[in-house]
Amino acid sequence: MEQLFLTIALDTPLDRVFDYRWTAQQEGEPRPQPGQLALVPFGRQEVMGIIVSVGSNTDVPADKLKDVLAVRSQLAPLSPHWLALCGFAADYYQRPLGEVAIPALPKNLRVAKSTSLDNNLKKLAKAGLGNDASPNPEPALNAAQQQAVDAISSASRFAPHLLYGVTGSGKTEVYLQASARVLQQSPDAQILILVPEINLTPQLEGHLRSRFSGIQIATLHSGMAEGERLRHWLAAHLGQARIVLGTRLAILASLPNLKMIVIDEEHDPSYKQQEGLRYSARDLAIWRARQLDIPVVLGSATPSLESWLHARTGRYTKLALPERAVKNAVLPAVTLINTEREKPLNGITPTLISAIRKRLEKGEQSLLFLNRRGYAPVLACDACGWISNCTRCTAHLVLHKGDHALRCHHCGLEQRIPRSCPTCGNIDLQPLGRGTQRMEEGLQAVFPEARVFRIDADSTRLKGSAEAAFDTVHRGEVDILIGTQMVAKGHDFKNLTLVGALNPDSALFSQDYRASERLFAQLMQVAGRAGRAATKEGGNPSEVMIQTRYPQHPLYHWLMSHNYDRFADDLLEERQGAGMPPYIYQALLRAEARELQFALDFLHEAAVCVEHPGITMNDPIPMTMTRVANMDRAQLLVESPSRPALQAFVKQWINALRSMKTRVKWSVEIDPVDI
Ligand code: ADP
Ligand code: ZN
Ligand code: ZN
Repeated sequence: MEQLFLTIALDTPLDRVFDYRWTAQQEGEPRPQPGQLALVPFGRQEVMGIIVSVGSNTDVPADKLKDVLAVRSQLAPLSPHWLALCGFAADYYQRPLGEVAIPALPKNLRVAKSTSLDNNLKKLAKAGLGNDASPNPEPALNAAQQQAVDAISSASRFAPHLLYGVTGSGKTEVYLQASARVLQQSPDAQILILVPEINLTPQLEGHLRSRFSGIQIATLHSGMAEGERLRHWLAAHLGQARIVLGTRLAILASLPNLKMIVIDEEHDPSYKQQEGLRYSARDLAIWRARQLDIPVVLGSATPSLESWLHARTGRYTKLALPERAVKNAVLPAVTLINTEREKPLNGITPTLISAIRKRLEKGEQSLLFLNRRGYAPVLACDACGWISNCTRCTAHLVLHKGDHALRCHHCGLEQRIPRSCPTCGNIDLQPLGRGTQRMEEGLQAVFPEARVFRIDADSTRLKGSAEAAFDTVHRGEVDILIGTQMVAKGHDFKNLTLVGALNPDSALFSQDYRASERLFAQLMQVAGRAGRAATKEGGNPSEVMIQTRYPQHPLYHWLMSHNYDRFADDLLEERQGAGMPPYIYQALLRAEARELQFALDFLHEAAVCVEHPGITMNDPIPMTMTRVANMDRAQLLVESPSRPALQAFVKQWINALRSMKTRVKWSVEIDPVDI
């Protein structure tokens, strides 16, 4: 009987792989292969791991070796490419391989004792996903689109393209036609399309299904039930699905014949995972494309400064779509309403009110954008100064009037609205500021006849309700839509001719240095919801109105002229001068403890625990939001102009930190975005 030693990656925080013994149970049993899943004993558990190599010897002494319990041979092995991708992510983000690779698999594959799964798998593989949408022909491309499609699909090697086009410029059509060419070029080619949030892009999914009628399309996102997830993952893994549409997690999908990657809205912060393995799906996509030597398309109206810089230095090819694709469509006119001169009443200025009234008279839709959900951000007592603070966080409890609740948006703490002030007994408690719910109430009072409708995370909590809500707007059953950033993305409202941004200023002075580029992107995006139908020959001229106290701010200046080029160029210059990303690289050590001092003490110790030539070690500081869920948090930022130098340092640093005896909970994030 043959005996082998399998090196297996397991989902544990221990930064190593594990050797196990495998002995054939019967004559002629297939030899295990790297990339197969194997069930092994680990501690007192049985867990599923991934075989990373197969050999005939091991350093582990015989009495310490345990036997593999079973190899899941029904499933085609994961490819060396896929293992290399996980290996890179593990290395770059400083995590054990198993912690990256195993959670990337559907849960049903990881469930230890599922002997029936193999028959299950066989049936699923046979069934596939199908796609019987009725076909939809390709429109003729305009010159800029044609150039982009040609450039992308003629690239046979690794070729990153930045597709830079305003909303409505027809980027989607470029993705579709470039994909069509790639699919034609080889009979088994697969394409991966990443979007920031799949629930907001049913339109794209629909376009794909009808354009590629008969071709299997898999979707992958976190909102899927486990069975569905397995079905779609498997179709991708077996090469049956030729197109995979997914959110950031799909970057780790197994795609044996991947030939092109598209990242739509590449600047979107949702591509960065903000817990556990804090990876950037965009950065991994670039790596994956390079490893496979295939083209990758990054699409955006407001590219990230990282991509913008690469386009400037020529590392990425910039493909510009300067105009809206629909014939004669123009960009909406952006105007500012100076709230210093014209005071808003209940959050809204008379100018904006009359603009809405005009739309109502003409039967057109208006969209009001306010990035703050809830009724009011805080409840306060005028008599004694009490305000509704969360007892567990450095944050206010947000008033949710309809649910009669005060709620913390950070730790989830919920309380009933007090009848009277908890400190002085005053019964006249006042909401301060306004969220979407309060705006909705106010607008309904101003326009009693209008159909006012709100879309935010609270109004769309139930599964499928977001899609239903957007359909209501598309069907024209809404006159005034109020919403958070949820309404900014993906939807093309035909009858919408007015967009109002109610209170965007706070982002101008945020601690987070990336806040202004995000604000620009958000406002551009929400502005893009309007005026898809507006034409140079008249039609319905669309307007975007921004209420601001700082009309002189350069951000608004460049926004009014739709000039992202200048905005981004100026920001880059500022960043270069200040020695900030994307000109330098960063890693962040976070620490949390019951008391702030413990976290800070740990960070001070961490700052000197290894030599660090060429690395800038900043001072440990409390995080802006210091306390969350009763834990105090502090951070230590390290920087270097050299990415390899930073990588090498962090590797050494983490080893040193692991050997430090501490009860402080810590983690290291590479390329942090929220600092
Ligand atoms: P983006 O993704 O850049 O925001 P879309 O791809 O959604 O833009 O295109 C905006 C609109 O223009 C859509 O209604 C689309 O059908 C239309 N469109 C795109 N390309 C063309 C074209 N070549 N000819 C006519 N209409 C087009
Ligand atoms: Zn009081
Ligand atoms: Zn809280």
